[in-house]
Amino acid sequence: MDYQFVINSLYDKVSNEPLQGAVANYIPELAKVNPKYFGVALTLTDNTAFAIGNADIKFSIQSIAKVFSLALAYSLIGDEIWQRVNVEPSGTSFNSLVQLEADLGLPRNPFVNGGALVICDILMCQLEDAKSQLLTFIRNLSDNPLIEYSPNIAASEKTNGFRNIALCNFIKSFGNIKNHPNDVLDLYFDLCSIEMSCSELSKSFLFLANNGCKTTDGLKILNYSQTKRINAIMQTCGFYDESGEFTFKVGLPGKSGVGGGIVAIHPNLYSIVTWSPLLNEKGNSVKGIHFLEQFTTETQYSIF
Ligand code: GLU
Repeated sequence: MDYQFVINSLYDKVSNEPLQGAVANYIPELAKVNPKYFGVALTLTDNTAFAIGNADIKFSIQSIAKVFSLALAYSLIGDEIWQRVNVEPSGTSFNSLVQLEADLGLPRNPFVNGGALVICDILMCQLEDAKSQLLTFIRNLSDNPLIEYSPNIAASEKTNGFRNIALCNFIKSFGNIKNHPNDVLDLYFDLCSIEMSCSELSKSFLFLANNGCKTTDGLKILNYSQTKRINAIMQTCGFYDESGEFTFKVGLPGKSGVGGGIVAIHPNLYSIVTWSPLLNEKGNSVKGIHFLEQFTTETQYSIF
């Protein structure tokens, strides 16, 4: 398979599509991103890497970071984690409060904001300094000591995060947040603020395509079963209330963020990342989905 040829030709094709969608505007840092940016990076499990477009510009990875926090928490407490967060698609938006009351504070999955807040709470209970240890974990996955939180984005998230503040306090009222909600929210906003490029993200997600082991040094991050479960949750819950549609079109597990990034995993084969900040009404990158849909069609590889 000539991957560079495939991504180059699809990149040209999708780049020439008329611009559709809107840049996330709930914080100024996201609203001012150039809507024309478009990058793609693909890394195979043998570490061969391919890239095109703006693949080396760092962007706000937002909810994609929820996979990192989940992986770290899962590696720390194992299956106990499922007593604190469920594994069902929510069918509602990522920041919805409606199901939480009926579900007695048990978030539907780790990728809706309520679930990600509970995962942050778990990390705070398990780690001495969750903020820096989480960053070390991500730097280790990407073999890159330069990955950082963005203090500006984190501060902006905090100033505008009324719904997340409500979610965290609501879950706390059911007893499913153990630390002070303000501290959990701080970690959550830091998590959302991480900036990485397509190439860095593609490399750091490769362990999920390699049965839980890093491909560069063989380090075991998760066991086979844990890796399978995280990929399964990405498949069913990774794209907000468009997860079914993404599975239907692309046929790979993945995770999106409102910064316009999408990561998708082909187990045993590759990790691919697209970034284009223009989002559809569900909060997913329009060009990213178009690109990935054609990529799995063209290569004739998906998990199905
Ligand atoms: N910072 C965003 C929020 O919590 C993350 C949303 C996302 O990427 O899904 O609302």
